[in-house]
Amino acid sequence: MSQVLFDYTKQDASGASCTAHAWAKVPEPLSPSQRADWKARAAALLKKHNAVLVAHYYVDGDLQDLALETGGCVADSLEMARFGRDHASQTLVVAGVRFMGESAKILSPEKRVLMPDLDATCSLDLGCPPDDFARFCDAHPDRTVVVYANTSAAVKARADWMVTSSCALAIVNHLKEQGQKVLWAPDRHLGRYIQEQTGADMLMWNGACIVHDEFRGLELDLLRKEHPGAKVLVHPESPRSVVEQADVVGSTSQLLNAVLKMDAQSFIVATDNGILHRMRQLAPGKTLIEAPTAGNSATCKSCAHCPWMAMNALQGVVACLEQGTGEILVDEPIRSQALGCIDRMLDFVARNPNATAKPGFVKNIGAA
Ligand code: SF4
Repeated sequence: MSQVLFDYTKQDASGASCTAHAWAKVPEPLSPSQRADWKARAAALLKKHNAVLVAHYYVDGDLQDLALETGGCVADSLEMARFGRDHASQTLVVAGVRFMGESAKILSPEKRVLMPDLDATCSLDLGCPPDDFARFCDAHPDRTVVVYANTSAAVKARADWMVTSSCALAIVNHLKEQGQKVLWAPDRHLGRYIQEQTGADMLMWNGACIVHDEFRGLELDLLRKEHPGAKVLVHPESPRSVVEQADVVGSTSQLLNAVLKMDAQSFIVATDNGILHRMRQLAPGKTLIEAPTAGNSATCKSCAHCPWMAMNALQGVVACLEQGTGEILVDEPIRSQALGCIDRMLDFVARNPNATAKPGFVKNIGAA
């Protein structure tokens, strides 16, 4: 049974977390020669400080290229966490959003973890304040607490399990088979998708990703009619009306693999458009079409790009390495308490390698 019993709608009034503030902090685009200069500077600093760049698929293409050219990685949040933990470098530069830097620090407390801009956050993290979440958990002590990676260290400290979108289905299914009832936070769309796929008893927090929440089923249906041969790839943080039209539902890595492995020549992609950079590099012959968002009337900028991911830039990588800014610190005992739920997930994935191998394939409802 799926219920929504807790509705968190407060928005931080300080301005520090609003999307307008985030867009205002996105650096101006650089000219080609400036990009080359900043990239060379950042590469030299990574080498000088024996640092490695761990980047998410949603950040600027230059940062993704820099990570790969300097021995770092471009990945989803699960792989970013594993890569940072296992890499020999004692300095990790995490290009993504704050919870990703925190996860790296939780897993590697002895390492220095830097971020290009510490204001880069996430609407899911902002929408799940630790104190409110603790009260929600206190009210439901009979439930196993499962939180999405997109949460603060303090929220993870209260959880039994952390999951990412690539392993959430397998882990909740595992808990259901053990007869456990789940308290899920914070993304309501991902939670609903997991609940529908597994049939698990899940009590939901009511959070959403401001980027994926803006994809629209009606507009997607119209776009599919224009491109009848295109396969539809959807991240499960999207609304049900969008997920229902998907040929593949999965994490960023799983959607990328679908582009590489499926026979189709064209794909409609419903996730942050930052991923198109890597998709184009790895599948240059394929046609990639951005799924439609709600347009100008939307509550966010509605351009299928995360404003906090967009704050990451080459200049930020240079600044954090040159000046030591943007260091992530996670206090004890929060860090060691949060480590438990992340380790539980990593152990599960290590013991069940198929848990992340396959995306969800849902019945395509066809062009109606
Ligand atoms: S794309 Fe959505 S889930 Fe990802 S960091 Fe941005 S707001 Fe959070």
